[in-house]
Amino acid sequence: MKPETLAVHSGFAGDSGSGATAVPICQSVSYAYKTAQDLANVFAGRAPGYIYTRIANPTTTALEARLSRLEDGIGAIATSSGMAAIASVVTGLVRSGDRILTAAGIFGGTVSLFENTLSRFGVETVTIDGTDTDAFAAAINDKTRLIFVETIGNPRMDVPDLPALGRVAREAGIPLVVDNTVTTPYLIRPGEHGADIVVHSTSKFINGHGTAIGGAIVDTGNYDWRNGAFEDIRELAKRTGNFAFLAHQRNVIYRDLGGCPAPMNSFLMLQGLETLAARMDRHCDNALKLARFLNQHPDVSWVNYPGLEDSEYNGRVNELFGGRGGGLLTVGLGDKDTAYKFIDSLKLATNLANLGDAKTLVIHPASTIFHEFNSDELGPMGVSGDMVRVSVGIEAYEDIEADFQQAIAAAVEEQK
Ligand SMILES: *Cc1c(COP(=O)(O)O)cnc(C)c1O
Repeated sequence: MKPETLAVHSGFAGDSGSGATAVPICQSVSYAYKTAQDLANVFAGRAPGYIYTRIANPTTTALEARLSRLEDGIGAIATSSGMAAIASVVTGLVRSGDRILTAAGIFGGTVSLFENTLSRFGVETVTIDGTDTDAFAAAINDKTRLIFVETIGNPRMDVPDLPALGRVAREAGIPLVVDNTVTTPYLIRPGEHGADIVVHSTSKFINGHGTAIGGAIVDTGNYDWRNGAFEDIRELAKRTGNFAFLAHQRNVIYRDLGGCPAPMNSFLMLQGLETLAARMDRHCDNALKLARFLNQHPDVSWVNYPGLEDSEYNGRVNELFGGRGGGLLTVGLGDKDTAYKFIDSLKLATNLANLGDAKTLVIHPASTIFHEFNSDELGPMGVSGDMVRVSVGIEAYEDIEADFQQAIAAAVEEQK
């Protein structure tokens, strides 16, 4: 089945008790068993069953099954946030003294996790231009445990060569972890282009309405955990086969870190997913139109949207994302004051720290998401003082353009 259909139907076959067609919200912490032996069997893995919602929950299981189908993975684990997904994956693969390779210009929270938090535990992060595949290959040593990139760097808006990075990772025997938040499985299934693990912030386009924080981990099935670089997972694979990474997460790392989603939030993600395809088509259409409009506007310094015909990444957008550039773009308005005045003059678009909502959203990244970084650090991350990030919504395009038109005029007028 096609993603449009999977997004609506997969992961749930109707409630056998009531016939409910919406996935029921199973708002329960724990699950009762008749006998002491029955519960002991579930704990020991001798019988299937739910134990405690921090480990698994029926509503969340439906979401995991749907996400796994959409990514064509072998299984998924839903988390309380995108950061919980990334933290769980990475802490499950590294030990003190290990090295991570990551692309520059990715989500600020991920940069902080790697550079501020994981460094406290002796994990070294090497940051590399996401499009310089050779530099990734050159930075690999015997301590390197994974490569981490985003499908489109947020906010750098660069598109790494996933198939080439996949080959570099395979050669080194380490997994390629890809954050597919900005593109979603509707534009790309990274597993088909060499990714071993896919992570998501489901708070964004998957939820689609800005109503719940969530994340997900998907094992694409590409990495051979039985012969991989991770001794504990190799050991587990003797019993679980290639489900070893998911078992290691579910029964150890994810369980111990406590990053499970609330059942209500899993329900909101399932509901959001149903309209993913319809919304993404419109996000992409509106973003391309807005990028073209801004690109020819005399008062705009620059526009960065990989879907633009003259973008250096347009070839990869065609190769990897079916020609759709996503719903995010960045725009330069000359300097910070003009950017601020532009944001303050918008009437329809909202100024906030989110993306992927049905509504058009803007933010000034340098002074918000990236406020902890100095100007030397911001350059390689693709963040400049005059930059505004736009998450283009699904409103009528004409209304978005009119709002941007008047706000640019107001900002430029102010500067005169
Ligand atoms: C938002 C975001 C995250 C973090 O997700 P949360 O749900 O906010 O924890 C990770 N990666 C990308 C690309 C994001 O946009």
